[in-house]
Amino acid sequence: MRNFLILAAWCAACVFSIPAASAQTQPVKLEVDLSDAPRRVYHSKMEFPVNPGPLTLVYPKWIPGEHSPNGPIVDVTGLHFRGNDREIPWRRDDVDLYAFHCSIPAGVSVLEARLDYLLPKEDGTAGSPSATAQVAVLPWNLVVLYPQGTKTDEVLFSASVRVPAGWKFATALETVSSNSAESATFETISLTRLVDSPLLAGAFFKTYALSPGQKPEHRLNNAADSAIATTVSKDQLNHLRQLVAETGALFGARHYRHYDFMLALTDHLPVNGLEHHESSDNRGPEKMLLDPDSLEGLMDLLPHEFFHSWNGKYRRPAGLATPDYQQPMKSDLLWVYEGLTQYYGVILAARSGFWKPEQLREYLAAIFAALSDGRPGRSWRDLEDTAVSVSVLYGARQAGASWRRPVDYYEESELIWLEADTIIRRETRGQKSLDDFCRRFHGTEDGAIKVVPYAFDDVVALLNSLASYDWKNFFDERLHSHGPGAPSGGLKQSGWKLAYTDEPNDHQRAAEQSEGTVDLSFSLGFTAQAAGDEVNTITDVIPGSPAGKAGVAPGMKLVAVNGRKWTPDWLRLAIREAKSSAEPVRLLLENDEYYQTFEIDYHGGERYPHLESLGTPDLLGEIAKHRAPAVAK
Ligand SMILES: [Zn+2]
Repeated sequence: MRNFLILAAWCAACVFSIPAASAQTQPVKLEVDLSDAPRRVYHSKMEFPVNPGPLTLVYPKWIPGEHSPNGPIVDVTGLHFRGNDREIPWRRDDVDLYAFHCSIPAGVSVLEARLDYLLPKEDGTAGSPSATAQVAVLPWNLVVLYPQGTKTDEVLFSASVRVPAGWKFATALETVSSNSAESATFETISLTRLVDSPLLAGAFFKTYALSPGQKPEHRLNNAADSAIATTVSKDQLNHLRQLVAETGALFGARHYRHYDFMLALTDHLPVNGLEHHESSDNRGPEKMLLDPDSLEGLMDLLPHEFFHSWNGKYRRPAGLATPDYQQPMKSDLLWVYEGLTQYYGVILAARSGFWKPEQLREYLAAIFAALSDGRPGRSWRDLEDTAVSVSVLYGARQAGASWRRPVDYYEESELIWLEADTIIRRETRGQKSLDDFCRRFHGTEDGAIKVVPYAFDDVVALLNSLASYDWKNFFDERLHSHGPGAPSGGLKQSGWKLAYTDEPNDHQRAAEQSEGTVDLSFSLGFTAQAAGDEVNTITDVIPGSPAGKAGVAPGMKLVAVNGRKWTPDWLRLAIREAKSSAEPVRLLLENDEYYQTFEIDYHGGERYPHLESLGTPDLLGEIAKHRAPAVAK
């Protein structure tokens, strides 16, 4: 899915034949038919204005926000080119498999290209599922081709869509005409803006106003596998309205005409979020808004993707601001793009009222413990390398994650930005904070929908203008060090330290409940699946932990604990019993067709992370306080 493919060097003969002027003035007509979405096929028909001669069309490969060359070309099927009602043969480039060459005959001024996109049902090598029996998400990059060598800002598309009978839909694109409730033709817009404006459709659909009576408009569009799942509670609606107000107070400028949260609520699409300028494509479990444990784990999803409209879409690292979807991206600054967003995603979740201060602390304790005591991988891989390697790490298995290191530039950067926030506050005696950085970095050019690239030095220079400090060295150390633990300065300076007790961490508990997992990372040293497709499987073992030393490995299956059929409760009880006993915890595990008992010599009892006050002022609580007037009535 995230395999890195070596790009071809383009030869001059391959350059497409559409003059730039005609590409800019005459849009590509695109018709997308989602009628077969429940059968997991999207149909696409394009009409390109062309001139006779050689032409190469390409399929989007590097998708903005995914930071990877993962355009799912394997499921592009039924490709036909036609002109004046006659078939025009195409040939795939034998080095760049995303490029299709053809020759436009004399007399042909419009090339008709048709393709079907087959949607996968499971996440895997063929890309991500986007449709269920009742919900469909249309990222337009799945169904388009465009002339090779053109900037996506300069190719215009006039798109229309048809959805299944009785379904509703929403997108940030403006509708210019509509023949029925299930179809629409949208404004003519650049390919960049089209791909930046996915469409959400569904049989059960509900839209909520998030800034009623105000401009710009903000909406939450829910499509779910059931009617009840589209429902937002009064409290949730108030928190979302507060979120909109908090971003206004934080940035002072917005980079959209209106903003649409698209939220697909289904157990048949992987949980995910993808940022856009004027919308975001969010996908959560069907009961996300109904089950407090499910929502607890995803509380920052909408704030995170919303924050990206400023940080990621408007301001973007130069290496990720590529002119088209075929150019490779450089992702070393993802600790700003994603890391700062991760930090403000959770802070805005707290400022909006989604998270109470103690929930924010439990969340931070869980991630700090995981990054400090569950990451031997930091001994060989530094934080920046997790960003540079994103295109391979996104597809990595959970097995081995603690030794491989996953995409830690999300959560570890959160700790780094918290530390930066506390330093600015300290150095300016409370006059300035990281909020001022956001206002100056992201809060300019109100209304502008554009990309303003930046480099590492720009971040350092702006921080220095707020608070004089050796910011270059600050980031260098944290991006390139190997531990032993994760950066702890932010927690310390905000009044907190990590402590373990035998009381479950509430954030971990909610995740275990909603995801059917067991997390014993800080006692025996492993995680396992207690329900679902991979039930009983040990998902990861921390090298050097008691389980790791005993020879337990990811992929093995739990059968029994101390001679009795295992359940999460019996396993926890066994850990408690071993605390006052000399006997080891005995696990009977299945490894392929073989059974083996592993004796884990561990007597430390249950251990779960929490934050403990240092007795100094609670700066974390101060940072998490709402800034905008309360909108709740
Ligand atoms: Zn993100």
